[in-house]
Amino acid sequence: MTTRAADPTAAELSEYVAASRALSVSRNRIEELASSRVVTAHRAQLDVLQRHLLADPRVFRDMFIADGMQAVAAEFRQPELSSSFVATLWQMLLRDDDASRVLMRFVWNVPLGQKRKFIRGIDAHLSGRYPMFAGISVGWPAENSIPPYVRPAAERTDDFELVNTGYLGYLQIGYTAREVDLFVWLEAIRDKQCTDSPCELGQLIKGHREPKGGCPVQIHIPTVLQLVGNGRFREAMELIESVNPLPNVTGRVCPQELQCQGVCAHSKRPIEIGQLEWFLPQRARTFEPGAALARLAGRPDPWVTATKPPVAVVGSGPAGLINAYLLAADGYPVTVFESFHALGGVLRYGIPEFRLPNQLIDDVVAKIKALGGRFVTNFVVGKVASLSELADAGFVRTFVGTGAGLPRFMNVPGEHLVNVLSANEFLTRVNLMQAHREGYETPLPAVPGKRVIVIGGGNTAMDAARTARRLGGHVTIVYRRTQAEMPARVEELHHALEEGIHLATLRAPSEFLSPVITSGSWAGSANAPHVVGRAVCDVMELGAPDASGRRTPMPTGRSETLPADLVIMALGNDSNPIIRESEPRLTTRRGGALQLAEGTQRTSVDGVYSGGDAARGGSTAIRAAGDGQAAARQIAKDIRLPAAEIRDRVARARAYTDEATTPNTVLATRVLATGIVEQVIHAPMVARAAKAGQFVRVLSEPKGELIPLTLSDWDATQGTITLVIQGLGTTSLLINRMQVGDVYEGIAGPLGRPSVLHDYDPATQTVVFTAGGVGLPPVYPIMREHLRLGHHVTLIAGFRNLDLRFWVGEGERVDALRADYPDLLDVVYTSNDGSFGEEGFVTGPLERMLKADQAHEASRRIAEVVTIGPPLMMRAVSDLTKPYGVFTVASLNSVMVDATGMCGACMVPVIVDGKLVRKHACVDGPEIEAHGIDWGKLIPRFGQFRPQEKASMVRHGLTL
Ligand code: FAD
Repeated sequence: MTTRAADPTAAELSEYVAASRALSVSRNRIEELASSRVVTAHRAQLDVLQRHLLADPRVFRDMFIADGMQAVAAEFRQPELSSSFVATLWQMLLRDDDASRVLMRFVWNVPLGQKRKFIRGIDAHLSGRYPMFAGISVGWPAENSIPPYVRPAAERTDDFELVNTGYLGYLQIGYTAREVDLFVWLEAIRDKQCTDSPCELGQLIKGHREPKGGCPVQIHIPTVLQLVGNGRFREAMELIESVNPLPNVTGRVCPQELQCQGVCAHSKRPIEIGQLEWFLPQRARTFEPGAALARLAGRPDPWVTATKPPVAVVGSGPAGLINAYLLAADGYPVTVFESFHALGGVLRYGIPEFRLPNQLIDDVVAKIKALGGRFVTNFVVGKVASLSELADAGFVRTFVGTGAGLPRFMNVPGEHLVNVLSANEFLTRVNLMQAHREGYETPLPAVPGKRVIVIGGGNTAMDAARTARRLGGHVTIVYRRTQAEMPARVEELHHALEEGIHLATLRAPSEFLSPVITSGSWAGSANAPHVVGRAVCDVMELGAPDASGRRTPMPTGRSETLPADLVIMALGNDSNPIIRESEPRLTTRRGGALQLAEGTQRTSVDGVYSGGDAARGGSTAIRAAGDGQAAARQIAKDIRLPAAEIRDRVARARAYTDEATTPNTVLATRVLATGIVEQVIHAPMVARAAKAGQFVRVLSEPKGELIPLTLSDWDATQGTITLVIQGLGTTSLLINRMQVGDVYEGIAGPLGRPSVLHDYDPATQTVVFTAGGVGLPPVYPIMREHLRLGHHVTLIAGFRNLDLRFWVGEGERVDALRADYPDLLDVVYTSNDGSFGEEGFVTGPLERMLKADQAHEASRRIAEVVTIGPPLMMRAVSDLTKPYGVFTVASLNSVMVDATGMCGACMVPVIVDGKLVRKHACVDGPEIEAHGIDWGKLIPRFGQFRPQEKASMVRHGLTL
């Protein structure tokens, strides 16, 4: 035995033989088993699985996920979720993959009790990492949720950056994009999917035309919540955008507490539908920039395909923008005509950027352009062209979305004082014209350190107050009811109070006074009596409810005086009369809003639709959008035209749009006298519509200032207008430096009312024009019109001296008129120093005429006097003619911003029946009956921004 064991070779050999024998047995057995039925079936299954794995690996993932979900479901059956399970679950949710979406779907679908368990789990186990989860389970889902992120008041009151940064705001404080998605998802899973969808459809109330609450643009709220609840964010966003192209705008400004959230089943803490509405597009904008436009790329241009007739949209507020978008998306060639140089309506000029960044309006405009929509700015419908003229130009339908831009005032004594202004003017200066920013030319009343009172309790008041606060003012909102009745969005009021704005409720200003002049800053200031310093307020109490259901404020008989260096009136707006005055067939309701046929957006004029504030009076952005949307549907349904007519209309409307968008290029310039320049500018639409007495609003460069300039001449055939500009401030001096080929940023006009040309007998009457300095150019076309009508005209043109005279030499305009109308035109020249014509002012010859007229010694009686020139000269003429009872009109080129009535800056205090009434030079004028004007109150207004103008000239290194 020992011998064998001691032989390793033999041992290895015998081991080999044994193993070979065992292997052979196993091989036989494998072959035997391989052909068995059971193993054959198993191998076939493996084959199939292998093929599936290669073709679609997700099948396997789903299998594993399904297994995982079994485990998750099992955990959810426990009384509470364990700390480790919640942590793992959250980790999986954070992975943003298929499995996490299955988990989201799972949680969305489990019964409420299980959802609560999940929320208790994250509250208990994750609130260390997410402080906003702490306590969330108390009263969840009805009373608790994760709020969107609002920048703290201390951080935000000095800047114009967004205040409510929404759920995406959590990114700025260190959370990841996926975490933010999950916060939003947590909000969505509070939804109950109510069967009657009140958030979307509102609640019907007997006797009311419109339901209470609901979504005016019907963004499919329940489905959107369901999609978000299932983690399908992109689909949710695309669903919203299919009906509302501006959710990133409406979601931020809509008064949700009155609409979708106002009727939410979770009445104590409604689901943050508005936040979700704008989160979705903003999320896409942040993480997939350009995707929104890419989705619209490659669509055929409706102006080229010409399969549907063109539609004109007037006004680019929310009503007009949604209307244009939906029609363009439906294949209609659309042109939007907007009176301002910038698009967006109140969204741009009213609502400040700390609530709504302008870039978001630009996004909407870009989408409309991507669909082929076209925009014409500086085009005031009703002035440049009437609605009928748009129809003649080819547009088969017109949607009027002109808003309600005419600010209301109190009409109380002292309203004329400098630094009493409308919120529209204040906000336009800041939001549209960026007056508060370095490098922009628009002046702004001084705000830093000033006591600002804002009158009103709506959104406009909040915006004005918060803007003034950001500009360094000490702001008080004065409101005649109590805080509870304030119509502003709850959020805005809350933010305003957080920002340190004071409320003076149950107070109604009854008079504004100039400052009490002591030894303070006003001592010795000549301006002091003309500037506001105090507001006398009636102390009110609440009486019985009025028609709106709100309790009526009643005076108590007591009053108090508030100090006020700047008074901003935010009392609501009425409709602008420009369109309705240009189209008498348009019927209106009380307050001037356009009347619509019951249940439609159709106006009384065939083919003309309206909506938004133009038809409702001051309302909300989302209602305006709802109207624009409804009008788009109705327009698309109403039109049936033969293909040939459609093609013809498209061609004509296209040519019209092209012409309206041609640049305003300077074609010729001529220095008339020191500091006075004449420009001929390409402006075919203005030239075609211009009438004597009208003016234009010019913006020379993007950061410039909007200023009014009277039309000195125009040539409809050449498509040109002539302006004469005297360099008096930065803007006019810079305009004077423009060269041939330079292009204006925009010219809007003709604006204002044309001169009223009465019938006069040339044999016995003469119309006297007194033109001081650059008063001659605006006088010229009016004078010419009278001459064309066969009237006799006397021109008294005054210049400071020989060097400053123009248009009076041989062959010049006045001379040419004399040649054309030798028997109808008498001319007298004056100069202050006697270097040209008669020495003295224009009042000298005028007084002689008045006296001769009174003494019946004149060959012709004075039919009327028209005076245009420096305010002091116009006042002198007015004072001179008044005792003679000679009808006198002054053409006022006042301080203006928009020049269409929207801002109220060009207030003219006029006495009517002994009472001070406010008129506006841009809509009631520019010609105003001179004897009614309270010149003492008007003239200081011309100098309102003199300090700012001086500072600007210094900045630019300019001198006069
Ligand atoms: P608008 O937005 O007024 O737009 C009308 C457009 O038409 C303007 O661009 C105007 O220049 C142009 N236009 C006017 N006349 C002509 C013409 N003749 N030719 C060519 N163009 C013309 N609503 C809310 O829901 N939430 C808010 O938070 C809110 N805040 C507000 C804050 C302020 C300061 C203001 C003033 C209003 C606010 N509103 C708010 C109201 C809301 O903005 C309006 O209800 C809404 O903008 C109306 O939309 P619209 O399209 O009818 O008109």
